[in-house]
Amino acid sequence: MSGDADAIVVGSGPNGLAAAVTLAAAGLRVQVVEGAGTPGGGCRTEELTLPGFRHDVCSAAHPLALASPFFRRFGPAARGVRFAQPQVVYAHPLDGGRAGVVTRSVAETAARLGDDAAAYQRLMQPLADGGMAVADAVLSSMRRPPRYSRALAVYARHGLRSAAAVARRFRTEEARGLFAGVAAHTMLPLDASPTAGVALLLGSLAHTVGWPVVEGGSARLTDAMIEAIVAAGGQVETGHWVRSLAGLPPAAATLLDVSPRTFLALAGEALPARYRDALSRFRYGFGACKVDFALSGPVPWRNEAARQAGTLHLGGGFEEIAAAEAQVGRGQHPDSPYVLVVQAGVADPARAPRGQHTLWAYCHVPSGSAVDMTARIEAQIERFAPGFRDLVLARSTRTAADEEASNPNYVGGDITCGAQTVRQVLARPVARWNPYRTPLRGVYLCSAATPPGPAVHGRCGELAALTALRDIFGIRDQPDLSALQPCATGTRSPQ
Ligand SMILES: Cc1cc2nc3c(=O)[nH]c(=O)nc-3n(C[C@H](O)[C@H](O)[C@H](O)COP(=O)(O)OP(=O)(O)OC[C@H]3O[C@@H](n4cnc5c(N)ncnc54)[C@H](O)[C@@H]3O)c2cc1C
Repeated sequence: MSGDADAIVVGSGPNGLAAAVTLAAAGLRVQVVEGAGTPGGGCRTEELTLPGFRHDVCSAAHPLALASPFFRRFGPAARGVRFAQPQVVYAHPLDGGRAGVVTRSVAETAARLGDDAAAYQRLMQPLADGGMAVADAVLSSMRRPPRYSRALAVYARHGLRSAAAVARRFRTEEARGLFAGVAAHTMLPLDASPTAGVALLLGSLAHTVGWPVVEGGSARLTDAMIEAIVAAGGQVETGHWVRSLAGLPPAAATLLDVSPRTFLALAGEALPARYRDALSRFRYGFGACKVDFALSGPVPWRNEAARQAGTLHLGGGFEEIAAAEAQVGRGQHPDSPYVLVVQAGVADPARAPRGQHTLWAYCHVPSGSAVDMTARIEAQIERFAPGFRDLVLARSTRTAADEEASNPNYVGGDITCGAQTVRQVLARPVARWNPYRTPLRGVYLCSAATPPGPAVHGRCGELAALTALRDIFGIRDQPDLSALQPCATGTRSPQ
């Protein structure tokens, strides 16, 4: 580490990089320090199985990147990043070849839901008509009430409820299954609040921006941010785990893209006891066990429309998924788990050699689990796509314990860096007017453990950086991110 930076960012996940981009755009010299051998944290792409098969190691579907005010300002498209939209946004296969199917059009989605067509349209149309209103409110600093809109009123009415409560308006297995599948992204039992809020946010984004994959892999988004940082004179160093704040070179501001648990370890006794206690009460959620497959052909989903879907939620009807998630909540490993699947190849065929495919899948497990769920995930896919197993050329599995070993932000394999309970959605990681500020002057938290929480949107990083710019550098104006130039090369290894 060179020691001449105005600001140091520890961690190069999307939030760390968004913080660095924001600081660099304000004219500061920025140094990013990453522990892993490759930058990007939860936004990376690697040949995990066979040569030529490019797998998204973590994030794959990117509705929140498209909706994010940070990325809208940064302008990925102008930097060569293309979002590829599948024809079907997400599908929920059911036994017997049936499926709930969501496309960009609310009307078309509703029309496939038979008796639930009107109920779906009543719930989703106002949210979709509101455009970015819900996403802007959820991705805001949440310290000013958003401007009234009908979409926000609908969202406010249901957002803090449980998926189980809101799904009661649906009668068909297809509509109830769709709601369960998207609500279960929260990684909480479906009778817990605010699982409906997550379902409505992600469900409405399906209609407003879609759930695209990044052409060539999620890492392209990471590369674009690194190129902008480096072009502005910043540095990104990999392979350097930071063990204590005292070990960092002096800089006016330090932004930490780390979990509250890591922050406690880095700062030690320097933090006041009350803040330490509050941070140590931060709760982490379920873990995830992920399997990436190299396939000799497309997945033979029994349901035709499912073959065009970018994302699929597996596990059967609402009750079956709720039971599986409740089991995980009790510390058990379900035999028939809820499985999230992304088939990037339907929108981005270049992810694998011609005619072949990658498949991304994970299921939820108890925190810290070292249980390999590969067989159970495969059985769930085979249930809705008989013949799937015959296509598998290679697979690569990461248990929840492996997730944590590869990225300390995923405590116990919790890929959301903190349970999304109502309390932790509203006050994350501790209840403070500005949660990015810490009691240590010049030290800020900027990971997904801060608002607005998990997913690739960069807003935690951007909002933390804006706080640091105001506090330390007296810069109050929003830096112009679009002015940052791209450049050819990015990372640098430790010296
Ligand atoms: C399997 C999986 C699937 C996902 N799917 C999606 C998806 O489809 N769509 C979506 O939007 N989101 C998805 N996510 C969530 C998304 O990846 C995260 O919410 C997001 O990456 C959080 O960004 P972050 O910058 O806060 O943290 P991270 O991306 O976790 O990055 C933190 C970085 O900090 C580094 N670090 C931590 N401690 C130190 C230290 N002491 N010293 C140096 N470096 C350190 C880590 O190595 C890491 O690189 C997924 C995550 C996982 C794991």
